[in-house]
Amino acid sequence: MSEHFDLVVIGGGSGGMATARRAASYGKKVALIERGRLGGTCVNVGCVPKKVMWHAAEFAQHARDATHYGFATGVPEHDWAKLVDNRETYIQRLNGIYARNLDKDEVEFIAGDARFVGERRIAVGERELEAEHVVIATGGKPHWPDIPGAALGTDSDGFFTWRERPDSVAIVGSGYIAVELAGVLNALGSEVKLLLRKDHVIKEFDSMLGNTLIERMKDAGIDVQMHRSAAELSEAGEQIRVDFEDGGSVTVDKLIWAIGRLPNTDNLDIEASGVALASDGTTVVDEWQDTSIDGVHALGDVTGAIELTPVAIAAGRRLSDRLFGGQPDRKLDYHNIPTVVFTHPPIGSVGLSEADARAQYGDDAVKIYTSHYVALYHGVLEHKIPSDMKLVCVGDDEKIVGAHVIGDGADEMLQGFAVAVKMGATKTDFDDTVAIHPTSAEEFVTMT
Ligand code: FAD
Ligand code: NDP
Repeated sequence: MSEHFDLVVIGGGSGGMATARRAASYGKKVALIERGRLGGTCVNVGCVPKKVMWHAAEFAQHARDATHYGFATGVPEHDWAKLVDNRETYIQRLNGIYARNLDKDEVEFIAGDARFVGERRIAVGERELEAEHVVIATGGKPHWPDIPGAALGTDSDGFFTWRERPDSVAIVGSGYIAVELAGVLNALGSEVKLLLRKDHVIKEFDSMLGNTLIERMKDAGIDVQMHRSAAELSEAGEQIRVDFEDGGSVTVDKLIWAIGRLPNTDNLDIEASGVALASDGTTVVDEWQDTSIDGVHALGDVTGAIELTPVAIAAGRRLSDRLFGGQPDRKLDYHNIPTVVFTHPPIGSVGLSEADARAQYGDDAVKIYTSHYVALYHGVLEHKIPSDMKLVCVGDDEKIVGAHVIGDGADEMLQGFAVAVKMGATKTDFDDTVAIHPTSAEEFVTMT
């Protein structure tokens, strides 16, 4: 016998939790199925543990700088295992809060692996659920290359299980995860080799950000190697030897694959639902998060959309508002979504890159403003790390369509500017805003 629900959500990560709780707030009967820990990737093996590690790395950098501020000590000894224990305790607390939130909102939580047995029929363990609406929010998993010995490496999930810091690490990849983990490990004392198969990092961003980041990483001691494609991994005593396609090799203690993520659609018996998948395995959805099957929706990383927690949350809340909250036009606008890369220094970006703006509006319509400055924090330091900013403006009124920054404080600076960009601010609006001094953010409103 099937049990009936208004909504069944598969996946208790960022998107699934948000969708289920918002639907329940409208008095709907909701079940959420999760096979692992509540909170999904972000809470357990993503944003949260990563940000804790980033803070530790920032701390190490500040400790190095501290002598210039009159403190006697250099970098104190670091206990990696203690940091990991404290981080995991914090995450367990979050897991508990997530469970209590579902309880409080009267969402039925079902632990287990969900699979489709019909269009809107889901099996989990011995139970079979049927719903008016089903939401697939099953996220993704790290992608691994198909080369000999690949299993000697690990991925970002594996990184978070490490009990001690390796002396040397190779990181393969050029995206968010590769550059973020490179920064953390380098700042905390590992020798880091960042192996790029091409000659750039974070390619989706304005090229100023990636190019500057490469310079900053090299300056910080990261060994950035370009045109290095791994052909094979093999054991070298306790270490891992990486042989490259065009010859040459490196030997390291650990290797991390950070070459993108794949959607979790291969574990759902999705054929039973009839939901169409794209060739890369992501669920095909329209602007309303609707799949090819009536009443079946998908959101978050499983759709191949911008893979960010707030995006999955926003899509989920809006979907529930539309389906159950009497707001028929509610959907997520995927434009101007701000993002931060937690490197050292961090990167903040919203809107179009210069190249995209030129392609979209034509060279004549685009005006670029840049700033290269040294934040006051570095004033008393011997080794000063500069910051860089760019505003991308279009049209006679110089509407700001892109704002990009790499430098201290970029992570906290960007949210407010993203509101301005989303509201359609012009360069004159920025110029008319009185600066806050002395900050780095003031550079955004003082560019000429
Ligand atoms: P997930 O959070 O992955 O949740 C999917 C859930 O579905 C999982 O819990 C999974 O166990 C469950 N599931 C899968 N299949 C089944 C099944 N058959 N039955 C039951 N349950 C199932 N984003 C940011 O915005 N900021 C960051 O700083 C950031 N840092 C990141 C760092 C790393 C290392 C990684 C990997 C990601 C990071 N992200 C960050 C991305 C962010 O974590 C994801 O975009 C976000 O978690 C996507 O949410 P989701 O709900 O789509 O999927
Ligand atoms: P990304 O998609 O960001 O980057 C992966 C990159 O690795 C590719 O773009 C590609 O770049 C390169 N690559 C692909 N295959 C290979 C290969 N075989 N060998 C070497 N390099 C390869 O993936 P990530 O895994 O870094 O992160 C996944 C997503 O998670 C991100 O896109 C982001 O949305 C999210 N995330 C967000 C964070 C944040 O908000 N701060 C932090 C971490 C993750 P190229 O073609 O240039 O070689």
